[in-house]
Amino acid sequence: MQKVIRCRDVGFDCDGVIKANTEEEALKLAAAHAKKEHGLTDVTPEVVAKIKSVMQTV
Ligand SMILES: [Zn+2]
Repeated sequence: MQKVIRCRDVGFDCDGVIKANTEEEALKLAAAHAKKEHGLTDVTPEVVAKIKSVMQTV
């Protein structure tokens, strides 16, 4: 089982896909990606909620 987050589903015009083995890791990677690639300065609870809402388990 893997956690998968499609960056586009979070709202970015981006084909990035984040994969991790745990939800915690996926959130961490997604936050790092958003900061690095999209200039997101602050990962707010709203952003975390949005990421969680689009996260898939495959
Ligand atoms: Zn992205």
